[in-house]
Amino acid sequence: MAKTALIIGGGFAGCAAAHQLALQGGWKVTLVEKLPFLGAGVRTSWYGGHPYTFGPRHFLTPWEEVFGFLHEYLPLRKLKHEFITYVEQDEAFYNFPIHMDDIETMPDREKVHAELDARKTIEQPSNFEEYWIQAVGETLYAKYVDEYSKKMWMVEDNKEIDTFSWSPKGVTIKEGPREAWEERISAYPLAPDGYNAYFDIGTADANVRLSTTIEQYDIPNRTVVIDGQKEQYDVIVNTISPDVLFEHCYGELPFVGRDLHKFVLPMEECFPKDVFFIYYAGKEKFTRLVEYKRFTQHQSPTTLIGLEIPSKNGRHYPVPIQSEIKKAQRYLADLPDNVFSIGRNGSYLYEVDIDDCIKQSMDVAAKLS
Ligand SMILES: Cc1cc2nc3c(=O)[nH]c(=O)nc-3n(C[C@H](O)[C@H](O)[C@H](O)COP(=O)(O)OP(=O)(O)OC[C@H]3O[C@@H](n4cnc5c(N)ncnc54)[C@H](O)[C@@H]3O)c2cc1C
Repeated sequence: MAKTALIIGGGFAGCAAAHQLALQGGWKVTLVEKLPFLGAGVRTSWYGGHPYTFGPRHFLTPWEEVFGFLHEYLPLRKLKHEFITYVEQDEAFYNFPIHMDDIETMPDREKVHAELDARKTIEQPSNFEEYWIQAVGETLYAKYVDEYSKKMWMVEDNKEIDTFSWSPKGVTIKEGPREAWEERISAYPLAPDGYNAYFDIGTADANVRLSTTIEQYDIPNRTVVIDGQKEQYDVIVNTISPDVLFEHCYGELPFVGRDLHKFVLPMEECFPKDVFFIYYAGKEKFTRLVEYKRFTQHQSPTTLIGLEIPSKNGRHYPVPIQSEIKKAQRYLADLPDNVFSIGRNGSYLYEVDIDDCIKQSMDVAAKLS
């Protein structure tokens, strides 16, 4: 008889988990999603005739096998990709990661060089500010990181942030090619509706219950209540914040949300060639602009821009503060055998991206085989 699995949440991680169990075979899978659609923010919608997602959602991975896996089901186009950052102090756009050639154009380059020459390695930086200043000096930290990180994490002071593994993009100063991610594969689906087909492929064999909320969780017994009915499963794969599963018994896990504003501009293209995102590193309220055409290759005489403002709306970004990560780990440690928690919120790790969702779902399937 088929074993039963409940998947909580139908974002990328939930759909990827359903897919892995379908490939393994022998599972009767139920996927519960509170929204009326699958894919969450990775789902492509349309505005002004343009396809867009909630934020960039480009596929980026160091793992050839994960790229190959997704590409088999959802053909992907590899991209050459640069980031730029607007630095208001200098009234200039610079590459990110910080690039040596840009430093040479800065009005205060001598001071920057003096700070770079005087850098000292701190064995264990105690906060994000210290971590960055030791890597790039105070002036570059002030230009690229200080205000950006405060608005990104909605903190008064970057000393409140005390973990760094999520910040791989910039602590080196680059020379040579300006590509943002030389060591990773950067790609995007070829289909005009982006990843949408994958959500249906992944869940084709599952019983998908949209617009459905679980009323009660009894995780030790792998039991939930939906529409007043108790349902017990052999396996649960959770993809939502683990505090919800345990009625926040160790306290609520904090998240930063996002407001996305979209606007169409009367021009075919707007950003420089190969630039997909522009970061804004100063006191303006927004963090990032995306020109969706760069990813989607959508043909139109106009172009769609997305602008992101950090807010308290939505549980999008687990905060990279040790005490909160430890709190999440307490919840995760309480999961019994055959209950897994994956995905960005399920792992409570900001650094979990789309490729990690696939990798984690493969790992769960391997444990269950
Ligand atoms: C603005 C933004 C831009 C990003 N850009 C990129 C990028 O360019 N590249 C990249 O690789 N990654 C990017 N990411 C990260 C990546 O998209 C996520 O890591 C990934 O999509 C997370 O998928 P998930 O399934 O873990 O979580 P989610 O997408 O959050 O899915 C969880 C699902 O669970 C549902 N749910 C919540 N509570 C319940 C409940 N009680 N019952 C039932 N269902 C529930 C939600 O509605 C949602 O559909 C970005 C993230 C954000 C926020």
